[in-house]
Amino acid sequence: MAQLIDGKAVSAAVKAEVAEETAKLRDEKGLKVGLAVVIVGSDPASRVYVNNKKKACEAVGFQSYEYALDESTTQEQLLDLVNVLNRDDRVNGILVQLPLPKHIDEKAVINAISPDKDVDAFHPINVGKIMIGEYSFLPCTPAGVMRLIESTGTDITGKQCVVIGRSNIVGKPQAMLLLQKNGTVTICHSKTKNLKEICLGADILVVAIGRANFVTGDMIKEGAVVIDVGMNRLENGKLCGDVEFESAEKKASFITPVPGGVGPMTIAMLMKNTLTAAKQQAGIE
Ligand code: NAP
Repeated sequence: MAQLIDGKAVSAAVKAEVAEETAKLRDEKGLKVGLAVVIVGSDPASRVYVNNKKKACEAVGFQSYEYALDESTTQEQLLDLVNVLNRDDRVNGILVQLPLPKHIDEKAVINAISPDKDVDAFHPINVGKIMIGEYSFLPCTPAGVMRLIESTGTDITGKQCVVIGRSNIVGKPQAMLLLQKNGTVTICHSKTKNLKEICLGADILVVAIGRANFVTGDMIKEGAVVIDVGMNRLENGKLCGDVEFESAEKKASFITPVPGGVGPMTIAMLMKNTLTAAKQQAGIE
């Protein structure tokens, strides 16, 4: 039976590290850390994410600046705000909550954020830096996954790592981070043939698809570390992952639950990136 990887505990540890360093910077260098969070429209899920990010900022001692814009905001107005925030010295990190309303081009907005303040690490410059291993910010969810794997004591070097999903925000950067830790990485997607066979070879399996209970125990190698990034809302309102937990935990050595696994890590890593941004802007790092 697998050991549970406690994302809440690991994320609390990351936030505690950030809080300690933030207090030290404030006391010793008079430095304040600020995160601007921009939300456009009234999507309930986005609202919950934004509230959670604000709460996390308070918990670690950051200033948070919320910009809640109306659904009818034009792309030009949003770009103007991003430009103002790029120049605002109180703001070390800028986060524009996605998805944006359909009339706004997300790419244009991401590209407008100063790479130095791009704490989501979505800007092409930061994506490129991740490719060559010279990054300032790690993408929050994949970085959170790496911390969770680390918490199991697993050495990634030489391990067969399988990532299911190739999105720009999870799958692709995840594969890159595992590769940088010397894993032998296979990326799977919707056109992959023999998915089950590939999964059965995985010592470390990271699943980021967005399909409830898609990966079942018979696809998992005995003793594998299984990380479930998926967050799917079932008809009964319950949150569930991409991995069928009951059958998977019988095969895995370590497994993340949903909720309480990867989810809490994403916000913790966002806090870490914001602190890094503040230090870099102050010339400390
Ligand atoms: P996405 O952009 O929709 O990408 C999904 C990926 O899964 C695509 O690459 C797709 O392949 C692949 N896929 C879909 N069906 C498949 C199948 N039958 N077999 C193999 N691969 C398949 O999703 P995402 O943004 O990466 O998010 C993935 C999941 O993670 C979602 O549930 C999301 O809610 C969750 N998530 C959680 C967090 C967190 O903080 N916990 C953060 C981000 C995302 P193609 O490229 O071929 O279409």
